[in-house]
Formats: sequence, C-alpha cells, structure tokens
Amino acid sequence: MIKVAVTGAAGRMGGRIITLITEAEGLEVAGAVEMSGHDRLGEDAGYIAGCGNVGVAITASLEEALTNADVLIDFTWPEVTIGNAEVCARLGKAMVVGTTGLNQEQRDVISRVAESSPVVFAPNMSVGVNVCFKLLKDMAKTLGEGFDIEIVELHHNKKKDSPSGTAVRMGEIVADALDRDYNEVANYHREGMCGERSQEEIGMQTVRGGDIVGEHTVYFIGMGERIELTHRAMSRDMFARGAVRAAGWLADKPVGLYDMQDVLGLK
Ligand code: NAD
Repeated sequence: MIKVAVTGAAGRMGGRIITLITEAEGLEVAGAVEMSGHDRLGEDAGYIAGCGNVGVAITASLEEALTNADVLIDFTWPEVTIGNAEVCARLGKAMVVGTTGLNQEQRDVISRVAESSPVVFAPNMSVGVNVCFKLLKDMAKTLGEGFDIEIVELHHNKKKDSPSGTAVRMGEIVADALDRDYNEVANYHREGMCGERSQEEIGMQTVRGGDIVGEHTVYFIGMGERIELTHRAMSRDMFARGAVRAAGWLADKPVGLYDMQDVLGLK
C-alpha cells in the first residue's frame, strides 16, 4: 500500500485529491496538513473532503503528517510548497507538486530538492493538457515562423496567479520549438500606441471570472488561415486524478525531477 500525505487538505484541490485517494487501488491517505490556525485542524480529512472519515486528522505539522507517508501531494501556494519541498528533501520523501505560480528562484529550489528526493512537478496534471503539450511542440515546429502565436487562458475569479502555470508551460513549449527564449518573447500587455506586433512575440492573455475551472487556447494565426488548439476543463477531478496517478507512479522511482509527460509515458 502506498501511503500518501496531502497538504492544502481543506483546499479546492486537496479535498478532491483526498477523495480520489480513497477510491484508488493500492493508495491510502496517511497524513493531511493545513496551515496553522486553520479552523479545520483536528477534524477528519475525509470528512472535510466529503468522502467519509478516513481516520486521519488534519494537522498543521508536515513532519507529523509525513511520519507514515511515502509521498506528499502538495497543491498549496508557492512559498508554502518551497518550504514543504525542503522538508521532503530532508526526510527523503517523494513529492508531487501541483502548485503553480512559482518564480524562477522557487523552481530552482524544486530542482535542488529533486537531487535528494523523487519529485513530479507539473503545472497541469490532466491527461488532455499533457497531450496538448505534445501536440503544440509538433505544431510549432511544423508551422514554423509564418504563424503568429497567441495564448489565451480563462480561470475562476479566485485564481491567484496569472497567467496560469499551464499557459506559461504552453508558451515555453512553443518558444523552445521555435528556438526562442520564452522570457524574451512573452508579451503580457498591450495598451495604447504599443506598435505593431513583432513576428517573434508570443501574446499571453488572461480572463478571470465566475467558476471557470480552466480553459486554454493556443492560436496559430497565419495569412488566410488560423489554427486553434483548445483544452477545456469541466471539473477539477482530472487534475486531482492525475496527481493521485503521479503519486502511485512516483513511489518506486529513483531520485530525480519528473513531469506528467514522464508519468503518462508521453516522452
Ligand atoms: P485553494 O486556495 O483552494 O487551496 C490551497 C490550500 O492550501 C488552502 O486550503 C490553504 O489553507 C492551504 N495552505 C496554505 N498554507 C498552508 C500550509 N502552510 N500548509 C498546508 N496547507 C496550507 O487553492 P486550489 O484551487 O486548491 O489550488 C492550489 C494550487 O494548485 C494553486 O497553485 C493552483 O493554481 C494549483 N492547481 C494546479 C493544478 C495542476 O494540475 N497542477 C490544477 C489545479 C490547481
């Protein structure tokens, strides 16, 4: 049995992850963590997730939650994830990181942690989005320089980071495929007399509202034709299912940094 601890246990993703662990074969909830002062501390993690008691009380101590766990699934906030990753490295526990919005310095911490623990780090854990990642690389390479690329993403009004980690990953993939540096060509803002679009730039636009789970479209806009690759998430479960699958996959893997393409065998 693979024993899984979950941080952000009372959050939107944490609750679905706990529920899906209880439904998965060969996995069980071994620990659940929330931030200190949270009003759900001490309550049963399964009860809070809405799937019935699992016999694991939510604690504010990650070390305590990891005592009997093989792997941690973390969908929290960047600064929290970084601290949690360092604890996993110290204790030699595997970690699945779903948190988005990490800056370069924080990503470097994850890479360093992956030198002492197996880590899956993926901005989007859905099978469909990961297939899109693969298709985008081929599309960008095949269409080449003649197409302007714009990425538009839509999310709910509670999302904290913009653009989404998935949109950034999509931008990085198409930039890499075209030998461009994403950080140099990403254009997040157009306003006023900002001039003509450059051929190299990748436009990144965000829409926030209501309860949209997540929608991403990459436009390849040529002369007289346009290709749009869209992924629409209808519920959070496919992300949570991907995270649970990643935890099961990671349990017997050697130290290293992996992504969902590795988990899904898409490389
Ligand atoms: P949320 O705000 O509902 O949940 C975050 C939870 O983390 C909260 O319950 C919060 O109390 C808890 N938390 C804060 N500090 C903590 C600490 N020190 N220890 C333990 N828990 C702590 O947010 P959400 O919608 O569940 O999203 C969480 C993250 O997951 C975001 O970064 C989001 O973008 C990302 N996300 C990733 C994917 C993916 O596939 N990779 C999919 C959806 C969301």
